[in-house]
Amino acid sequence: HAKKLGRNNYQFFTADLNVRARQRLEMENSLRLALDHREFLLHYQPLVELESGRIVGAEALLRWQHPEQGLVPPGEFIPLAEECGLIVPIGEWVLGEVCRQNKAWQDEGLTKLPVAVNLSPLQFRQRNLEEVIRRALSESGLAPEYLEIEITESLLMSAEEQTIALLYQLKNLGLNIAIDDFGTGYSSLSYLKLFPIDKLKIDRSFVRDVSSDPDDAAIISAIIAMAHRLRLRVLAEGVETIDQRNFLMLEGCNDAQGYHYSRPLPAEGMKTLLRKGQPLPPLPENLDPV
Ligand code: C2E
Ligand code: MG
Ligand code: MG
Ligand code: MG
Repeated sequence: HAKKLGRNNYQFFTADLNVRARQRLEMENSLRLALDHREFLLHYQPLVELESGRIVGAEALLRWQHPEQGLVPPGEFIPLAEECGLIVPIGEWVLGEVCRQNKAWQDEGLTKLPVAVNLSPLQFRQRNLEEVIRRALSESGLAPEYLEIEITESLLMSAEEQTIALLYQLKNLGLNIAIDDFGTGYSSLSYLKLFPIDKLKIDRSFVRDVSSDPDDAAIISAIIAMAHRLRLRVLAEGVETIDQRNFLMLEGCNDAQGYHYSRPLPAEGMKTLLRKGQPLPPLPENLDPV
């Protein structure tokens, strides 16, 4: 009896695997075509200075307008794009598009702000990343100080000579460098003095329960204090409530990003916010922003 059950389970399992393998292959194929078909687009989320409520930057977040599946969030295709290497040409498109868009906003007379781009560790393993970034800047005419790059702790943990050298090259171009999802990487803090970093972005997982969990509050306070001692700017990710915002302000955190201020917006929506040029008012707490 057990044997029969086992076999049935096995068959069920393989059938399931086949379906998933096929879906994956289809996804990979359409991902390959997506660049040619111009199916990628960027949304922009404001980065807000806590004290003033002023927009001090934006983060570009990739979306895939899939012909059948609609708007696909990055969590559903970036891991695959990294496995098959497609993140390299996709990331190149992102860099070009962000520089072009930011320069277009500046040319329209909007306040000049840095826009941040997420870089995959795989892009750092390409020898020509500096070249790619330099081209994105020169073709758009955007000044390097208005491009920020976000890297992960895991990139710094690997800390190959080549990566370190590349980071210094990028810093020398005049870019800002931020560490994304800070606190989740289980890494040594020594890299903070080894690398040319400007900003820490505290991961959302610490911010989420900060009002109810004293341990999370302690971790955030410690990160802010450490960052400031190292002359780094600190941003808190995933700020959704007034309580979270108040705590972060009290602790002297510089900036915040999250639904409390604004969701990621299409370029047009971001432009409207920039044109208003006003501090972002805190939203009524029980009003879910769209
Ligand atoms: P990330 O860089 O940490 O980006 C922040 C994510 O948090 C975004 O998810 C954003 O929509 C979400 N978020 C912002 N505020 C809140 C909030 O208040 N509450 C909650 N629950 N979430 C909030 P998104 O757009 O789905 O992006 C997910 C991840 O995909 C990004 O995390 C980043 O690691 C990656 N990603 C996005 N665009 C790119 C890209 O162009 N290249 C690469 N390599 N990765 C990208
Ligand atoms: Mg990011
Ligand atoms: Mg992040
Ligand atoms: Mg995060």
